[in-house]
Amino acid sequence: MDLTAQIKKLESASNSLDPDSNARNEIREIICRYSETFLESLSDRPVFKRTSDEGRGLDESPIAEDGEDIVTLMDLFERHVVDPGLNPASPGHFGYIPGSGLYHAALGDFLAAVTNRYSGIYAASPGAVRMEQMVIRWLTKEMGYPETAAGDLTSGGSIANLSAVVTARDAFEIKAKDYHRLVVYVTAHTHHCIGKAIRTAGLGECLIRVIPVDACYRMKPGDLEDRIARDRKENRIPWLIVASAGTTDTGSVDPLEALAAIAGDNRLWFHVDGAYGASFMLCERGRNILKGIERSDSLVVDPHKGLFIPFGTGVILVKNGRNLHRSFDYQANYMQDEKTLVAVDSLSPAELSPEMTRHYRGMRLWLPLKLSGVGPFRAALEEKLLLARYFYEKVRQIEGIETGPEPDLSIVIFRYVPEASDADFFNQKLIEKIMNDGRVFMSSTLIEQKFMLRLAVLSFRTHLEKVDQAITIIRSAIEEIKRELSSID
Ligand SMILES: *Cc1c(COP(=O)(O)O)cnc(C)c1O
Repeated sequence: MDLTAQIKKLESASNSLDPDSNARNEIREIICRYSETFLESLSDRPVFKRTSDEGRGLDESPIAEDGEDIVTLMDLFERHVVDPGLNPASPGHFGYIPGSGLYHAALGDFLAAVTNRYSGIYAASPGAVRMEQMVIRWLTKEMGYPETAAGDLTSGGSIANLSAVVTARDAFEIKAKDYHRLVVYVTAHTHHCIGKAIRTAGLGECLIRVIPVDACYRMKPGDLEDRIARDRKENRIPWLIVASAGTTDTGSVDPLEALAAIAGDNRLWFHVDGAYGASFMLCERGRNILKGIERSDSLVVDPHKGLFIPFGTGVILVKNGRNLHRSFDYQANYMQDEKTLVAVDSLSPAELSPEMTRHYRGMRLWLPLKLSGVGPFRAALEEKLLLARYFYEKVRQIEGIETGPEPDLSIVIFRYVPEASDADFFNQKLIEKIMNDGRVFMSSTLIEQKFMLRLAVLSFRTHLEKVDQAITIIRSAIEEIKRELSSID
């Protein structure tokens, strides 16, 4: 066969990679129909489901040389991916930090992928980069940061926190010979990704001081101040304060104003991990609770939590944008066209993050924000704060229930204290019963060695009715366990 014939043969063999209009319509139709069935059945689907094979059935249909039809594949997807495990799209998801998944964002993802704009570099797609910058500038303003701030859309909160740690390291021009004298201040409730970020940034040798918390699980500023003074006196280098707004366990917001003042007086970098809670800056009640967040040097927000978009987008903001640029700027000969093609003074995401080629993330935020406007986001966030307060009041009325402090944001911790049996054993049974019921999902945690249940409200789909249902389910689960335990006796 001559070369042309060979090429033509391969061309036709690879044809199905590029479906024509009819084929596209047909497949899209089936996928859209599936999404409709899924969304319409959300309130009937369990929010958590254990299946016997845990999706293993997928392995029975391996990736093969020949293609299969979409109907078969949607069936595999439904049975082995969507069915088992947690359903974060459900209005009954009160576990961990709930994600939800705006439909408009999903459509934005579709368009981002179909057009496949290159969002890493300004010259390649000035529009895609501008769109991301517009989203970041909007968020910057909502957070009370100045125009000199810079930011980046990351894959999530963990990576955004890593960018913050790296930026803080470089801004202080810390040398490797000093790593072992460097001190970071956290609490026992700081998210584990901060420790990971410190190690990933090469700073595993540095000292991590766990500052005590008060009865509401907020960092004690007095203790922080004392610890910094002692570290200085002992010839260490106090460097970074990590505040949480709020914590994953209890939603507690550290005293941001006081911590900002201490950071200022002592010239430390003040970082706020607002992956869960910073989005509450969009509503007035939230702004009052989060006062002082704007005094941080860097801030993490997670739109895939508090702005309701599907998983895959976090944000790092750095108040002095030059510091972010300094950490992630680069030089490469094969990128020389980029510098000459840039028409305006505009930084590319690739100059502000460790990534180069990446998902065109701006679209999944821009489309929902433009379609709905910001108003509905503000309303939904304020609603979540009130729902948590409502739940807190209701759950306290159940006899035998003990709660943690009044919620700062939208997480409530509580447990049942039985008269006779072991409390941890009882609450373990309680969480299992709630999970097995399947209408709502909550998670548990250990607070001061006590097994506690937590209810976190953050899905845009969660409303009053669902919170009432959670109360009813908790009530009847307690009664059932009491009956079961007394029949054993
Ligand atoms: C969720 C969370 C993180 C981690 O963010 P990911 O997006 O899951 O990587 C960090 N800090 C806090 C307080 C969080 O709630």
